[in-house]
Amino acid sequence: MPEGDAIHRAAQCLQVLVGEELEVETPHPRAAVKQLAPILDGRRLEAVDAVGKNLLLRFEGGVVLRSHLRMKGRWRVLPRDAQIFGTPWLVLRGDEYVGVMSGGSVLELDRGIARRLGPDILAEPPDFGAMVRNFRAVDPSREVGDALLDQRLVAGIGNLWKAESLWGARVSPWSSLAAVSDEALRGVLEEANRLMRNRLDGASGRARAYRRKGRPCPRCGAPIRSWPQGDGARMAYWCPACQKGEEPPAK
Ligand SMILES: [Zn+2]
Repeated sequence: MPEGDAIHRAAQCLQVLVGEELEVETPHPRAAVKQLAPILDGRRLEAVDAVGKNLLLRFEGGVVLRSHLRMKGRWRVLPRDAQIFGTPWLVLRGDEYVGVMSGGSVLELDRGIARRLGPDILAEPPDFGAMVRNFRAVDPSREVGDALLDQRLVAGIGNLWKAESLWGARVSPWSSLAAVSDEALRGVLEEANRLMRNRLDGASGRARAYRRKGRPCPRCGAPIRSWPQGDGARMAYWCPACQKGEEPPAK
């Protein structure tokens, strides 16, 4: 059984990922149902601490993931492109290393955060009406790309699906909420739901905009742009030709 020292060792090993924006996956079905990946993917890991037998992973934006290894769980840190065997619960991929947790464990978001979450983008059926009302209740000068990541307005959209759903709906992440109609906003949310649902159902697929800076837009061929957005300065990706609208405030 992993004891406190094992947890501290894991925390030490995972320090190589601190400061990086991580690609987050939850391959194990019992982990996938927790919907953690969309909340964590693309977020910068700010700290990893061992607290008793718990490992606390603090991500930007105040998101805290608690992991407890129970009986058989374990963490490994491997080179980024190492082959990963089995079906891990959590995969945190950074620039050079990947942290892999396998063997079953407790994985949960800090409760305070869970209580403040907006309607779930993957609920069946999703409450798009309530989501749009939430967007209309905040500052209309806010950029739509920034608002989509606000888990109090809609829960579950991370940096990857933000980029992909805005691209799919042809809405610029830099448009103010005031400049986006209810219909267009709903279109973005429906696209996020469709893409994420497909992925949950096992569809593979390549990103069209996310992490494709400088590569041609699959729809029109213009180079995809990227620029940090919002308080967390998370990278936005968009096609300036077919997602027309406002541009980033600073060039
Ligand atoms: Zn395009």
